[in-house]
Amino acid sequence: MTFQNTREFAQQLDKQDELNHYRNEFLFPQHNGKNVIYFTGNSLGLQPKRTKQYVDEVMNDWSSLAVEGHFYAEKPWWDYHERFANPLSKLVGAKPSEVTVMNTLTVNLHLLMVSFYRPTKTRYKIICEEKAFPSDQYMFQSQVHFHGYKPEDAIVEIKRREGEHNIRLEDVLAKINEVGDELALVLIGGVNYYTGQVFDMKTITEAGHKAGAIVGFDLAHAAGNIKLELHEWNIDFAAWCSYKYMNSGPGNASGCFIHEKHHANKDLSRFGGWWAQNKERRFLMEPKFDPIVGANGWQVSNLPILSLAPYLASVEMFAEVGMEKLIRKRNQITSYLEFILHEIDKDIEGTEFEIITPTNQEERACQLSVFLHGQGRSLFDYLMKNGVITDWREPNVIRLAPVPFYCSYEDMYDFGQILKQGILTVK
Ligand SMILES: *Cc1c(COP(=O)(O)O)cnc(C)c1O
Repeated sequence: MTFQNTREFAQQLDKQDELNHYRNEFLFPQHNGKNVIYFTGNSLGLQPKRTKQYVDEVMNDWSSLAVEGHFYAEKPWWDYHERFANPLSKLVGAKPSEVTVMNTLTVNLHLLMVSFYRPTKTRYKIICEEKAFPSDQYMFQSQVHFHGYKPEDAIVEIKRREGEHNIRLEDVLAKINEVGDELALVLIGGVNYYTGQVFDMKTITEAGHKAGAIVGFDLAHAAGNIKLELHEWNIDFAAWCSYKYMNSGPGNASGCFIHEKHHANKDLSRFGGWWAQNKERRFLMEPKFDPIVGANGWQVSNLPILSLAPYLASVEMFAEVGMEKLIRKRNQITSYLEFILHEIDKDIEGTEFEIITPTNQEERACQLSVFLHGQGRSLFDYLMKNGVITDWREPNVIRLAPVPFYCSYEDMYDFGQILKQGILTVK
């Protein structure tokens, strides 16, 4: 499609957009009486209007039923998390028994590493990406320490080549080969949080397995954003947060995937708790730990129903629409945003910014990271003051996520005009 940088053209695209009405299902912060242009759904998704109803239901059941709510609530609490299995497994390409919700992302990755990072004297190295999300870096360091190894020896980072912004797949594969027999675990982000680069998880998983390692992914920026086939790709384990693309609210619960092939393995170490206990016998309060066969066998505590409620609202919304439609719009709106950025760049003398996200559609999803030259920080501030919410990452990057659920093509056009004005103002 040939794009045009005009309001009429953007409005035309909105008219043709089959998801356009979903915009009305979300609550937007207001700026001068209008919805802001929201580009930070990769950091905290907007609140769906239907969420409140899900939370109110729990509040009402709590007030009228108290402890009886565990069994007699509208949606009983004792197995509330099982409502996620069907819709969530579809979203991430898993079997219902392979997914669960619990805790928060870093906590879940730690718990999964208890099972899937079992270093030995000869095979103890972890491959991750250079400049992984800080929480992941701290996790790797502390896990390696915990097992008595040295981070500088045990953690192997895949680097970007000099002058390049993204990691090449061939370099990931070469590193896996190079570490070879010493490799215990490959654990990288399915979508890089900084650049928005999407990794070829299937190929990386194959290579990791060939080297005799376990392969897991941090899907913080992938869940609800890209097409995932976790089961088919034979990934060992994965976890994601739900407050980014999945719109479940600040700091909310995480989702986990554990491949079926590991479910019955009683030799895997894990940190137990009563919510993992055989469901039929859980309330018999017996001393012997007999974990559920399936991802629920990694549960620890009884679940925070008040925080699962917004997550359920969101998962049901995703199930209603399906990833295909979201991905179709995502590709088009991201390309339109890219086009607008290039148009603005052409209109202005000198190079003001550079898009560091891959241009290839296969290697990117709902995010363009823009490296600002010159007055980056003041431009960012200008945008915020003018109703455009983006985020700032050191040293000079703003990240733009045109989330297909609630961003419009007209937003992209308006953003372009504000950006242009901003560049001319702060210059
Ligand atoms: C957002 C994000 C996290 C956040 O972790 P929490 O435990 O939810 O605070 C972790 N890893 C990556 C890659 C992220 O993008």
